[in-house]
Amino acid sequence: MNQIFSYKTFYILLLLYPSFLFSQTIRPYDSVAKKIITTGLHSRNAYKILEELTTSIGPRLSGSVGAEKAIEWGKSKMKSFGFDNVRTESLMVPHWVRGNKEEASVIVNGKSTSLSICALGGSIATPNEGITADVLEVHSFEELQSKKDQANGKIIFFNRPLDDTKFSTFEAYSGAVNQRGSGAVEAAKVGGIAVIVRSMTTRLDNVPHTGAMNYIDTVAKIPAAAISTLDANVLSEFLLNEKNVKVKLVLSCEILPDVPSANVVGEIRGSEFPNEVVVIGGHLDSWDKGRGAHDDGAGVAHTLEALYLLKELGFQPKRTIRAVLFMNEENGLHGGKAYATVSRPSEKHIAAIETDAGGFSPTGFGVSTDSIRFEKIAQWAYLLEGINADRIRKGGGGADISELGKQGVPTIGLRVDQQRYFDYHHSNSDTIDKVNERELELGAIALSILSFVLAEEGI
Ligand SMILES: [Zn+2]
Repeated sequence: MNQIFSYKTFYILLLLYPSFLFSQTIRPYDSVAKKIITTGLHSRNAYKILEELTTSIGPRLSGSVGAEKAIEWGKSKMKSFGFDNVRTESLMVPHWVRGNKEEASVIVNGKSTSLSICALGGSIATPNEGITADVLEVHSFEELQSKKDQANGKIIFFNRPLDDTKFSTFEAYSGAVNQRGSGAVEAAKVGGIAVIVRSMTTRLDNVPHTGAMNYIDTVAKIPAAAISTLDANVLSEFLLNEKNVKVKLVLSCEILPDVPSANVVGEIRGSEFPNEVVVIGGHLDSWDKGRGAHDDGAGVAHTLEALYLLKELGFQPKRTIRAVLFMNEENGLHGGKAYATVSRPSEKHIAAIETDAGGFSPTGFGVSTDSIRFEKIAQWAYLLEGINADRIRKGGGGADISELGKQGVPTIGLRVDQQRYFDYHHSNSDTIDKVNERELELGAIALSILSFVLAEEGI
């Protein structure tokens, strides 16, 4: 019984309004949610899916053999789960390869100490013999501008950490990531010859974290690498305390011509309004470091399991729920863009839900739409109370569904506990041993419940 009522109040209300009892005991879809929760937690199938993806395929950077294998795997997985209309939708993707050499050392008064680094995705190589130069450490583009007279011919070292006073690690990441994305362009503008960027991670350890970086046509392209947070501190100490400090950087990465690739798509067709579609998805590509377990193998496992749970339980929604495994989120977003531009004249997307924040315990969903549709979505929060994932808040979505958002489709992002995500993100640490079976399954359950009720009731 609801705790805010005493028994006496309860009986008085019951005498006056018999419908009160009804409203207190029967809530639509409660039993549906309960079945999804118990079935998922018992089978923990999401973890089995993730295990297959991360062990039999592993890393799957766009354009790589791993990505090709992942497409085939995704298709056969959807077929084996009995999804309808399983298909690939083709697109072109960038093809960048890391090469077999990425190393750096700091040379202080002739003595060399190696540094833990990796190339940023999209970087050009250094010459074979590497680049050896003085280093200018800065913490922002403004500081770089103020020191531009000292930058010429140097390696520019961007060393602004993620702000650890922020509760939201995504906010901390956003506050630092311009160094990785645009550092090479800003450094080259003032005469820098390479960049080293402090890894975008909440951890202090010796693992470098890669990620996308960009060039622009009007500015010289210079090589770019990430350095582990511990070695960023080491380098900074040397620069502070020693006079004659140089860094040697060797990268052998390469930008190759674009190659064909694909999104993988499958669905449960709606029984009454099949042309009204709820999209659920994550991205199938990953970086080439680690195994892409949290980013975004977890999202792939969530998506496949969310739909499979409905299949398994025989819940056929009135509207179509479509699972999309997007290609190339990490370094181009070509999958998300391609999906949104495919002509589907008879169809209407009523919502798109993305999961790309890792396989941690879900807390709820973030929703971007107008306030009327927000309320229609948020009314179902009670169905997620049983798994502690009932916080439905304004603002959310995902990179792959952002193009659909621009077309007016409500976009929704699965929110999970985020304290550990950037410990592993884009690095060799992103492996399945960092994923908890039950936490991963709970994300799939939350996605399954919300997508089902939206497909059943509309928005
Ligand atoms: Zn991701």
